[in-house]
Amino acid sequence: MELFRLTAHELHDKLRAGEITSVEITQSVLERINAVDSKIQAYVTVVEELALEQARIVDVHLRDGDPLPLLAGIPVSLKDLICTKGIPTTCSSRILQDFVPPYDATVAQKLNDQQIVMLGKLNMDEFAMGSSTENSAFMVTRNPWDLERIPGGSSGGAAAAIAADAAICALGSDTGGSIRQPAALCGIVGMKPTYGRVSRYGLVAFASSLDQIGPLTKDVTDCAWMLNAICGHDPMDSTSVNLPVPDFTQSLVQDIEDLRIGIPDEYFIEGMESDVERRVREAIAELEGLGAQVVRVSLPHSEYAVATYYIIAPAEASANLARYDGVRYGFRAEETTDLIDMYKKTRSKGFGSEVKRRIMLGTYALSSGFYDAYYLKAQKVRTLIKQDFDEAFEQVDVIVAPTSPTGAFKIGEKVDDPLQMYLSDILTIPANLAGLPGISIPCGLTLQNLPVGLQIVGKPFDEETVLRTAYTYEQNTDHHKQRPTLE
Ligand code: GLN
Repeated sequence: MELFRLTAHELHDKLRAGEITSVEITQSVLERINAVDSKIQAYVTVVEELALEQARIVDVHLRDGDPLPLLAGIPVSLKDLICTKGIPTTCSSRILQDFVPPYDATVAQKLNDQQIVMLGKLNMDEFAMGSSTENSAFMVTRNPWDLERIPGGSSGGAAAAIAADAAICALGSDTGGSIRQPAALCGIVGMKPTYGRVSRYGLVAFASSLDQIGPLTKDVTDCAWMLNAICGHDPMDSTSVNLPVPDFTQSLVQDIEDLRIGIPDEYFIEGMESDVERRVREAIAELEGLGAQVVRVSLPHSEYAVATYYIIAPAEASANLARYDGVRYGFRAEETTDLIDMYKKTRSKGFGSEVKRRIMLGTYALSSGFYDAYYLKAQKVRTLIKQDFDEAFEQVDVIVAPTSPTGAFKIGEKVDDPLQMYLSDILTIPANLAGLPGISIPCGLTLQNLPVGLQIVGKPFDEETVLRTAYTYEQNTDHHKQRPTLE
């Protein structure tokens, strides 16, 4: 049996039944990585020995009949901006190429508490800035459905690895769509929890008021299991919220009778691929057939979301990235004449062009004389966007829309046109600005055989209704079972 093809919950059942061992699972996934990663280039680091050692420990506990957490013995990989003690964490940037964190991010610690098997770290757009993973300083990850195409981004390595069965579960981060968009383009499940649900401690910061960690998985059940593992208050992150965390597996029920689903007029935009729109409309009809009530809603300020995001995110990034100065850690340029020269050369050589563009945009938006016109204005518009959602959620329980206006595009197609690249997040950014939970689940393929993602956005801290809607749809369709043929 090809164990690498299974989900975490399927593997869990077999582990507990004594049919397989964690070492067998781990070997199977490691062999899969060896077989396919030269094609998709999802991994920056694979920690084979650590993985096998962790698997052996779980197997001993299993043999002894010790109580174990749900995810024990399941191989998981992390986007390479989540700090892992003793394992390089590069953010796919030259400036952090040799950085080995002295501590674990809270989510990494929580996964260790679950006794997962750590496989390695996944490629991404440098510092999570991008929508295609082409901004990695190391390599371009490829979409397993078509190796000439991008996997989406910035968590492109994570989405490609899951789609190619080169990891069982993964964690990514989503600042403007970086979990949901690559999940959509690779035909898997990806969820951004409510801002504050998951600790950001040890997540290398891009835009702190938007960043949120979440799972990328093969199905909705695995997504709920991963959420259970990573959510919760953390005194180390003052923006993590001290609210009880529900058991998300309780939401894995097929029940959307009378659920009110809002379809925003503004989300079926000009320029959207007709195939994408068709698949999403079919999915909405399917949900209606399953008992949901479909309601048209309006989110009138959506058209300003991308512009607002591209003020706020770069502004925060310019402050967050000031720490990479070559002094305390990371890359330092050689042959410099004085301190200022060292700063300049370190940052010029250490950062890629997109990161520099963001730092310049952000610095400009925050500079004296422009702050009110740009940053302050953007914050006001952000409030209007949030209010649109508040009003819509008075009428509906979830909002359903496409995740991405197009399927995966060709490598190189948008690299010279940052605005076109930015527009690929037009449907995901509003949920980040409003702090809302959102999931992308597979809802079919385009005529070119490329996956389409269905996005479900919920009220703040109502991941449960999002998961219940997603699970009901998934269980009544086969789209999540479709896998690319990589061989
Ligand atoms: N593509 C968006 C950007 O470039 C979002 C990235 C993200 O969510 N990390 O900023």
